[in-house]
Amino acid sequence: MYKLLFFFLVLLLILPPTEVFAQKKVPILVYHSIAKFEGHGQKELYVTPENFEKQMVYLRDHGYTLLTFEQWHEVDRVKKPIFLTFDDGYKNNLNAFKVFQKLHTKQFKPTGTFFIITDFISRTNRLSADDLKAISNSGLISIQSHSVTHPDLTITENLDAELKDSKRVLEKIVGKPIIAISYPFGNFNQRVVNETKKYYLFGLTTTPGPYIKQGIENEHYLLPRTYIKYSTTLEDFAKIVKID
Ligand SMILES: [Zn+2]
Repeated sequence: MYKLLFFFLVLLLILPPTEVFAQKKVPILVYHSIAKFEGHGQKELYVTPENFEKQMVYLRDHGYTLLTFEQWHEVDRVKKPIFLTFDDGYKNNLNAFKVFQKLHTKQFKPTGTFFIITDFISRTNRLSADDLKAISNSGLISIQSHSVTHPDLTITENLDAELKDSKRVLEKIVGKPIIAISYPFGNFNQRVVNETKKYYLFGLTTTPGPYIKQGIENEHYLLPRTYIKYSTTLEDFAKIVKID
């Protein structure tokens, strides 16, 4: 009898909590450019509009619910929740928006979050303030912060301004609360998290893997994300978003 009890106690200790109490997995994907690669920058940071559309059709046909961070509370209520995020505010993210518009029906509402570097707004290959306002008003895209100048937040001397000013600028443009930030380069530390908490409800890293609720302190400021790359096949994609 004691042997059996001991066995279960050991099992509880060695298994990660998720194995003992199965928790819902929530994939959070990160994209950068939605365009054909034509030699600028890193190829793996691109996804062609064709591949992107196939990925969205896959999510639609497999019953996923695409959410933005304003809808975080719905994670436990909807079927197969997933978050799509896009960093750096490239103009070519309008290609993702177009795919969303094309696939939007009564039954399927594709949504995503664009993380914007506010000092880069309206640069040649970046979204303009008018773009941001229009896509935000569409209800399909949530605009959120990716800092003011895209520094490594763990070493910048302007941490407070990077967090606060990007939020203020974006709120002025879209007229909605800015509640999430993706840390440039995915870099963060305790100080970054503590300061982020003053202005935001969510902080996104680039630590790979789905989000699994653990009830640990600050878990909304340590949200993991998985890269979707140029070389990601539809088969790879299916594995990345798999939640059971
Ligand atoms: Zn970035």
